[in-house]
Amino acid sequence: MIKGVLLDLSGTIYVDNEVLPRALEAVQKLQAEKIPMRYLTNSSRSSRKEILQKLMGMGFDVSEEEIFTAPLAVQGYLREHKLSPWLLVHPAIEEEFKEFSGGTPDAVVLCDAAEALSYENLNQAFRLLIKGARLLAVGDNRYFKEAGGMSLDAGPFIRALEYAADCEAIVLGKPSPAFFHSAVAQLGCRPRETLMVGDDVFADVNGALKAGMKAALVKTGKYQPGDEQKIAAPGACVCNDLLDAVDGILED
Ligand SMILES: [Mg+2]
Repeated sequence: MIKGVLLDLSGTIYVDNEVLPRALEAVQKLQAEKIPMRYLTNSSRSSRKEILQKLMGMGFDVSEEEIFTAPLAVQGYLREHKLSPWLLVHPAIEEEFKEFSGGTPDAVVLCDAAEALSYENLNQAFRLLIKGARLLAVGDNRYFKEAGGMSLDAGPFIRALEYAADCEAIVLGKPSPAFFHSAVAQLGCRPRETLMVGDDVFADVNGALKAGMKAALVKTGKYQPGDEQKIAAPGACVCNDLLDAVDGILED
């Protein structure tokens, strides 16, 4: 019995600035049935406020507190461990890290920073890492879908730095179990009563299953035929889109 739902955003609710067909109807159905839900995203090219405005502009009835972003999880880690970050992040989220400016960097924060992922910046990150800075990763997705096609996400750049500096990144978005559990805690239900819906078989589906949750892989966004064969454990279903996943819960 599913009592709470976590929803991925990019590729599940929208692609770039286009809402996916039937996604709004699916969310409205969950809200009408009073099933608690949160949005869970590794997206790091927009601030939480920008994501909120985008969802509201698409017609979703949503509040800022319902949106869990991986950059926010990184900020929590920096505070908890009193670290001074060197940022390799997208300009859109630099503002969210303002409180951490100053100080000698003892952590490298890396996310999908798009054009900022230059040789020069990656090399500077590498030099900090070999001196002992921690590598904090805002999710480690391999790729994502945008209007022009599939695009490299943060994962490949994290692997490159790990390889060069012989270190291991601390991943703070999906698929980190702690990230899923912090959102589940807000739903007031247990992981096994919670369904994660997403288009990423690794970060969304396998991540949720590892965190003790149920998962649904949607065939929208970055989904490619054959992804269902990469599901690593029982407890997942495959749906055409978010509305099919929601209907599956309501029929249960
Ligand atoms: Mg996605």
